[in-house]
Amino acid sequence: MGKYILIIGACGQIGTELTLALRAKYGNDHVIASDIREGSDNLMESGPFEILDATDYDALEEVIAYYEINDVYLMAAMLSATAEKFPMRAWNLNMNSLFNVLNLAKEKKVDKVFWPSSIAVFGPNTPKQNTKQNTIMEPSTVYGISKQSGERWCEYYFKKFDVDVRSIRYPGLISWKTMPGGGTTDYAVDIYHKALEEGSYSCFLKADTALPMMYMDDAIRATLQIMDADSENIKVRSSYNLAAMSFTPSAMAESIQNHIPDFEIAYEPDFRQAIADSWPNSIDDSQAKKDWGWQAEFDLEATTKEMLGNLK
Ligand code: NAD
Repeated sequence: MGKYILIIGACGQIGTELTLALRAKYGNDHVIASDIREGSDNLMESGPFEILDATDYDALEEVIAYYEINDVYLMAAMLSATAEKFPMRAWNLNMNSLFNVLNLAKEKKVDKVFWPSSIAVFGPNTPKQNTKQNTIMEPSTVYGISKQSGERWCEYYFKKFDVDVRSIRYPGLISWKTMPGGGTTDYAVDIYHKALEEGSYSCFLKADTALPMMYMDDAIRATLQIMDADSENIKVRSSYNLAAMSFTPSAMAESIQNHIPDFEIAYEPDFRQAIADSWPNSIDDSQAKKDWGWQAEFDLEATTKEMLGNLK
């Protein structure tokens, strides 16, 4: 038989690659992609797809019953930069979608839930270097507040209702298959496109803004790994710190210049600088390493090689 999986928000930057990875692992027909819009050709053509609004409990319940879903991956959300423009819409989407899925799991309509958190749960009072799993948080963005609240609810549903929910605090994710969806780390994807198309890039963050980042292959591997881990090994039921690399825009530009020597970068910080300034520079992910064997594989140089090679 094998399990059936529903991905909500499957057409986004992470959802697209996650769907393809899960289809390769569990079989195309076992992985149902869903979103409020259609996605890339390879996502739409490789398996089942449903138009589904994550804030509609009844519609979710119906799709889950129809496909006899075991595991849900909730990837729908409004990201950090966009959420600052539409605070209430972001809060409603980010929280109601999570409550819907947690409540379906509480009703035992699904077995296991994956819900991503973010480094945005940390704030200006958080120690910035090698930020620990448990530390001061106090997020100062709409998005960060929704993610921190979400973490508290995940842990609550685990403790109170035995809901098997698992979560990772993703750093900024770098990928070439799908464009990012309105986050503060989007520059780290845009820069490769512009380097190849125009030979130059104007960055919306300052040259020395260090942020935690990860190549998408590592993020997908981590997601499959935490969902495969034995339940007793998942000691953190809020969300796990996860890390791979940390770098500044100027370091990223240098790594591109090693391949495209004429590449030029300019800096024109906008409102996203304040968001980036409130986040950690680097993350301590020792708990994820200890509990379920996490180990990153891609550093900045490997990421640049992959990005330029694939985008060419
Ligand atoms: P994205 O914006 O690229 O994709 C989100 C998808 O959700 C989109 O395809 C969108 O159409 C869909 N969506 C929006 N409203 C919906 C609704 N009401 N019902 C169903 N689908 C809806 O985002 P992403 O980068 O793929 O992020 C996925 C998750 O990972 C989010 O929870 C995000 O907060 C988290 N995350 C992402 C990053 C990153 O760098 N990309 C970092 C940390 C955390």
